[in-house]
Amino acid sequence: MAGATRSLGCRRLLGTHLKNLLHTKHCVLFDCDGVIWNGDKAVAGAPEVVSLLKKRGKSVFFVTNNCTRSRDSYLSKFSRLGFCDVVQSDVVSSAYCSAIYLRDMAKVQGKVYVIGSDGVYTELYEAGVPVVGREPDVPGATIYDCPLDSDVKAVLVGYDDKLNFLKLAKACCYLRDPNCLFLATDGDPWHPRPRGRVSPGSGSLAAALETAAERKATVIGKPSRFMFQCIVSRFGVDPARTLMVGDRLETDVLFGRSCGVDTVLALTGVSTLQQALGYRDSTDPQGAACVPDYVVDTVADFLPALDEER
Ligand SMILES: [Mg+2]
Repeated sequence: MAGATRSLGCRRLLGTHLKNLLHTKHCVLFDCDGVIWNGDKAVAGAPEVVSLLKKRGKSVFFVTNNCTRSRDSYLSKFSRLGFCDVVQSDVVSSAYCSAIYLRDMAKVQGKVYVIGSDGVYTELYEAGVPVVGREPDVPGATIYDCPLDSDVKAVLVGYDDKLNFLKLAKACCYLRDPNCLFLATDGDPWHPRPRGRVSPGSGSLAAALETAAERKATVIGKPSRFMFQCIVSRFGVDPARTLMVGDRLETDVLFGRSCGVDTVLALTGVSTLQQALGYRDSTDPQGAACVPDYVVDTVADFLPALDEER
C-alpha cells in the first residue's frame, strides 16, 4: 500500500495538469534560495510567475529558512531582483518566526542570548524581545572572565559567520539552566555557494551547541510546522488549497507534507530528481515523507499555465 502511494509522487507538472492544479490552489508558498533566486540572481521568469499569481488573486508567501536578513531587507532584495509587487507580510522568514515564537508562544520573561546575524537581531528588536549577544567582548576576554547576564532566559542560534568559541561557550553556560529555552532558527546543514563551494548552515551551528549543552534545540524553520502556523494564524489559509514550492527535499518538501500541503520540487537548487526518485523508491518510511507530489525544472514552468489566463 505504501509503495502504491509513493509511486504517485514526482509527477511532472505540465500543460493542462498544471493549469488545473493552479486553479484549485488559492495560496502558493515559495522557498527563496534555489527556487525564485540563486544568490543574487533571480531565476528567469520567477518575478513574472509571482506577479501573475497575485494578479490571479492567489495569496503568495515566501517561506525561507535563511535568517540572515530582516523582512525589510528581503523587500529590498525582492525589489532589486525585479519582484515588484511583494509586500512585507508576504515574507515569512525563520528569523521573523523565531521572534514571534519567543514573544507569543514562549512568552519569554527575560533576555534572549543570540548567536546570529542582522536578520535575527532586527526581527527580535522589532518584536520587542530583549536581546544580548551583540556587544563586543573586551580584547582577550575568555569564558573564565567574560560577563554573563543573569536575565538571559533563552538562547537562539542561527547562521552566524562571525561565530567564535567564546560565543558558543557563553551559550553553553546559559543552557546549563534547564529553564533556559533553547531555539534554533532552522536546521539547514549547509548552503551552496558560488563556484561549487559550500558553507555550514544554522543546523551545523546548532548541532555544535546541542552536543556541548547535551540538549536538543526547538527548531523554528522548515520542516517544523511553526512557520505554516504563523501564516495560518494570520491569514487563515487552507492547507488543501495551498501549494509549497521548494528545492530541498528534507526541508521544503517534508515541511509541505507535514503541513498537509501539496508539494512541488523545483530543480533549480539543492535537491536533484534522482534524489527525489531515490526517496520515492526507497522502503524507508522517513524517506517517503520527502517525496514531492510534483516536479518542475523551474518555477518558470508555471508561466504558460498562468499566461493562458491573461
Ligand atoms: Mg532553498
